[in-house]
Amino acid sequence: MRIIDRPELKKLSTLKLGGRGARLYLADSCSDLDELARIWPEIAKGSAFVLGRGSNVLFGDGELDLVLIKWTGRESVKILSENSEGEVFVDVPASLSLPRFLGWCIKKGLSGLEGLAGIPGTVGGAVAMNAGSHGVEIGSRLEKVKAWSPEQGVFWAGKEDMHITYRNFKFRAQSTEKAQPFVPPYFIILGAVLRLGKDDSGVIKKRIATWYERKKNTQPVLQATAGCVFKNPPFSTIAQAQGSAPATNNISAGWLLDQAGLRGKQLGGVGFSALHANFLVNYGQGTSSQALELIELARDKVNKKWGITLEMEVKVVP
Ligand SMILES: Cc1cc2nc3c(=O)[nH]c(=O)nc-3n(C[C@H](O)[C@H](O)[C@H](O)COP(=O)(O)OP(=O)(O)OC[C@H]3O[C@@H](n4cnc5c(N)ncnc54)[C@H](O)[C@@H]3O)c2cc1C
Repeated sequence: MRIIDRPELKKLSTLKLGGRGARLYLADSCSDLDELARIWPEIAKGSAFVLGRGSNVLFGDGELDLVLIKWTGRESVKILSENSEGEVFVDVPASLSLPRFLGWCIKKGLSGLEGLAGIPGTVGGAVAMNAGSHGVEIGSRLEKVKAWSPEQGVFWAGKEDMHITYRNFKFRAQSTEKAQPFVPPYFIILGAVLRLGKDDSGVIKKRIATWYERKKNTQPVLQATAGCVFKNPPFSTIAQAQGSAPATNNISAGWLLDQAGLRGKQLGGVGFSALHANFLVNYGQGTSSQALELIELARDKVNKKWGITLEMEVKVVP
């Protein structure tokens, strides 16, 4: 297995922030996974994090006692079967980048995920986050997941074994060979079987281009960011909000941040984007401490103004 000591975390995150981790394990085969299982007790003594492309991650500054594990297996996408409704089942490796996978979908005339255009993560990271955009969530297309955990080794999970909610994916308790219900605390997604529709390649390409254009016009996709910092609050939270709660159910975290004066707010080299208030941008010389300070400021302001506690979407690691 490839091992990198003291990896530079900013190079592993699209926000380009962070100090150094302790170790990065790059696993790409079953024997690497066996090796990980063998050394897991040692790894689990400190902080461990399964990394995709790092497009939803804020790493801390300084020297961190943090072990990163990344699945880099290089299988190709496989078309498995088609059902009576003309839907096609495809087996997609977790390490494949989502934009590349969408490119493959264009070539094969397979549709359903066009709304995810411009999300820069891996397929594994998209599944782990139930990434979504423009009314599409990858979880709605998920049939099966192939994963690995130190306790179970490699396993397959069907829809009944998954619990998928807004920007969240978990395995449900399932029976292992020992007939024990089990939810792995750590798991690596190795691949996913997705159900896609069929359409004309040109039409799919056009839809992807349209969604990407819309994203580029409303989000700082070409800058160093990690996507939305906060999740959109659930309607129930908004309804219960004290004081001057917004009079609509369609409230995004971006709108709340904007109203609380955070759009364009900068601290040192980091700031909330002027294009989209829920995106933190590293302007080049930022630090994680500045980003965390801004996050706290934003939560505080939104809480004071609306009585809403924003929940993080970006993973702060460790
Ligand atoms: C410009 C920009 C735009 C974005 N737009 C959107 C958007 O519209 N919608 C949206 O949902 N997100 C968006 N994001 C956020 C991000 O791209 C997605 O959450 C993406 O799915 C994360 O994938 P990743 O591979 O980078 O995962 P990482 O950021 O590396 O990790 C994210 C989480 O997934 C877990 N994870 C990653 N890979 C695996 C794996 N193989 N097995 C198990 N767990 C894993 C990590 O442990 C972590 O908890 C955007 C980000 C950027 C920078």
